[in-house]
Amino acid sequence: MHIPQKYRDLRRYARARTLRRILGFLIWMAVWIGSVVSYNLNHQTYPAHRRFVGWRLALVLAVALLSGVVVFRLWKLFSDRTLWGVIERSGLSRSYTVSNDPGASRTDYEFRLNTALVIRRENGRTKRLRFEQKEGFYHYYREGHRVVRFGGLPYPLLLDANAPHGYVCSACGAWQKDYVPQCAGCGYSLIDPKDLTDTSL
Ligand SMILES: [Zn+2]
Repeated sequence: MHIPQKYRDLRRYARARTLRRILGFLIWMAVWIGSVVSYNLNHQTYPAHRRFVGWRLALVLAVALLSGVVVFRLWKLFSDRTLWGVIERSGLSRSYTVSNDPGASRTDYEFRLNTALVIRRENGRTKRLRFEQKEGFYHYYREGHRVVRFGGLPYPLLLDANAPHGYVCSACGAWQKDYVPQCAGCGYSLIDPKDLTDTSL
């Protein structure tokens, strides 16, 4: 199942996310390699053990590669595929990030509430999804309902065209009670569940 053709802006959005990830990683690698090469060129008179050659070069490149994978979350290129199934469990989870404000004398914790879903897929396997909790989600993501999460779009959508629980924007997560073609929050198209009646489900 793909994002329906008519939602061109969302297809672009999903593609751009993937592209940004790849491009960011490539630039990251280019900067590292460029720095190492320019260092070596500027220190040609140094003995080999003070330049990046041999295993030192390999080590630097390995660090660049691994940190690049982490920074740009490259595994999402593979894990962020379209998936659908039935919500088996819908709950909340909390996460927090430590924000070190240089002006403040103490460390602040920024709490974030997440919706945590366990989705039972067609093949019997379960998949966990976690994304920021927004208004209306408590009613929207109910156990027993079918959802689809498109690759590259952060928020899963209900697959029931007659769902009385409103509509969620797949790009920004804004929940709206009635269907409108454009999301009031971000302006991207709101996917109408009527366009998602896939026979393979
Ligand atoms: Zn939106």
